[in-house]
Amino acid sequence: MADQIQPNNSGTQNNANRGSKNKMPRFNLTWIYVVIALALGYLFFAGGDMQQGGTASKKVTYTVFKQYVEQGYANKIVANKDEGSVRMYVKPEHIRDVFQQGVEQTGKQPFVQAEFPSADKLDEFIESQHELGNFQGELSYKRSDDTFMQVFWNLFPLLFIVAVWIFIMRRMSGSGGGNFGGMGGIFNVGRSRAKLVEKGGENESKVTFKDVAGQASAKQEVQEIVEFLKNPNKFTDLGGKIPKGALLVGPPGTGKTLLAKAVAGEADVPFFSMSGSDFVEMFVGVGASRVRDLFRQAKEKAPCIIFIDEIDAVGRARSRNAMMGGNDERESTLNQLLTEMDGFGTNSGVIIMAATNRADILDKALLRAGRFDRQIHVDLPDLNERKAVFKVHLKPIKVDSSLDIDLLARQTPGFSGADIANVCNEAALIAARHGKQAVTKDDFLAAVDRIVGGLEKKTKVMTEDEKRTIALHEAGHATISWNLRYANPLIKVTIVPRGRALGAAWYLPEERQITTREQMLDEMCATLGGRAAEELFTGHISSGAMNDLERVTKQAYGMIAYMGMSDALPNLCYYNNDEYSWQRPYSEATAELIDEEVKRMIAGQYERAKRLLLEKQEGHKALADLLVEREVIYAEDVEKIFGKRPWVSRTEELLTGQPEEKTEEQSTENTES
Ligand code: ADP
Ligand code: ZN
Repeated sequence: MADQIQPNNSGTQNNANRGSKNKMPRFNLTWIYVVIALALGYLFFAGGDMQQGGTASKKVTYTVFKQYVEQGYANKIVANKDEGSVRMYVKPEHIRDVFQQGVEQTGKQPFVQAEFPSADKLDEFIESQHELGNFQGELSYKRSDDTFMQVFWNLFPLLFIVAVWIFIMRRMSGSGGGNFGGMGGIFNVGRSRAKLVEKGGENESKVTFKDVAGQASAKQEVQEIVEFLKNPNKFTDLGGKIPKGALLVGPPGTGKTLLAKAVAGEADVPFFSMSGSDFVEMFVGVGASRVRDLFRQAKEKAPCIIFIDEIDAVGRARSRNAMMGGNDERESTLNQLLTEMDGFGTNSGVIIMAATNRADILDKALLRAGRFDRQIHVDLPDLNERKAVFKVHLKPIKVDSSLDIDLLARQTPGFSGADIANVCNEAALIAARHGKQAVTKDDFLAAVDRIVGGLEKKTKVMTEDEKRTIALHEAGHATISWNLRYANPLIKVTIVPRGRALGAAWYLPEERQITTREQMLDEMCATLGGRAAEELFTGHISSGAMNDLERVTKQAYGMIAYMGMSDALPNLCYYNNDEYSWQRPYSEATAELIDEEVKRMIAGQYERAKRLLLEKQEGHKALADLLVEREVIYAEDVEKIFGKRPWVSRTEELLTGQPEEKTEEQSTENTES
């Protein structure tokens, strides 16, 4: 994914310049640099002349100097004891007496300079003149009088910093060379580095939905965006607002960039792509100015799509704790992004698509209405989808006629679209190395092995064994939730890994305002079903249940400490909504009791899960086998195995008015009694 969005200075700038209509110099960072340089230059060169430039001066003897002072000509006296010289600045009204010239010729502050015999004598003389009233101006002493050097040393630290800064800027933006390398690089640091793909552009590429295999639901959702871009009037005429942004959420390599490109390709509009990390530099203000530049460019090309990959690099939630410092540069970049998204009109035709594999860490402000208010999930492909991806990537490859795509798809559970593209490429390389005419099954299997070997650490590629374990685990959740009265009804179970969890099971949460203790316990039991199944049927327990355990533990603490739902601590709520208090609102003894009760509750539900699983062992095994075989199963499949659930959901219950029936599990197995 990253290789798609490499910063590409030259391309963008060429295109940008070609596209811009006005030749007026724009206001950007460049002008700030120029102004700074001019100011420095002025200080530097003017500094030396500031006191002498254009002013007259005259060397006189000490005696003459004394006469002038006695006559009251002195405005100001500056003595330099190091050099043994003294300067007398002449009062404006006496300039003509001393210089025989007007102020126009002498300048405002002409002076006479004399050598004095000794510092003591000079002091004595000036003192006496002061008492006599001949000299009332100020007397000052001065060290060595090299104004140029003085200015230089004053400015030196500043010059040094500027030099270092320029050096770093060059290194950072000059890499990659191109016609904007070198000095140009410094001045372009505030420019966006978006890569532009457009019709007739240098990196024109026509990606359409045909190139994106699988991802049916994601494609369907972005289809609407294509419609907006193609035909905005259709929506705006009816008063509708065109969405501004869509967030593609999913693991790396699943085709998020591809999908965004396909939207641009289908709608036939320009496509700007940039990675979130391209915005963020060490220097304050650069990110924000890049955001501004990107949107400016995009508006010129509207309708178009801006694609920001890895948006979490900028979009991470802003730190709430001001004391901790936070990352100011990133936050100001994010603020700029928010401002830009709010700022451009809804109907300006610029649609922003962003990709991330973690929507949960994004700043809430980004997900608000009018920004990235649509989230489109792009998951790892399941068996059938992998087949489709293989078909796409096998097209340009000369394959042996005996190749079985189904087998390949079965051999690659947990692979992303990018991994599969990689397999196809690798297989072709292996075949070529062996001088074959066509790529055979063996080459593909060798390629799969190689990629599994290389990827195992990085992504969630599964071995057969793991696949079996995950299937047992997920079947455990499914079995229990199907067979418990109050657990949420199941919709879909898959063993394709998702985030930190192993597989995943989707439930249809019931709409309820309050939850009873029975419902919570049933859900807890179903959540523990995964680990229970692992323990019962594989003999090991695995790290895959961590998420489940975390949820269960949190829920148990909530039930006991906040909802007063345990027998030992009934009707007590220890909820403390003061974020900054570290004090527990209960005693040490109560803390121990809470811990005790949490353990007891979870252990009870775990036992209950194990008992139920043993009871439904047959069904559980059938379910696990089906999962290994198909990777995804739906409610219908579970229903075929266990039969229809005897209970209607609570919502249905309310609608039909059917009386609740106490079930066996509920009455007898309830743990804490
Ligand atoms: P992401 O942006 O999600 O990390 P990319 O869109 O950059 O992933 O995908 C990288 C490459 O993987 C694509 O260029 C394409 O060759 C391949 N690929 C990924 N998903 C699919 C897919 N669903 N269909 C076809 N090719 C895919
Ligand atoms: Zn689980």
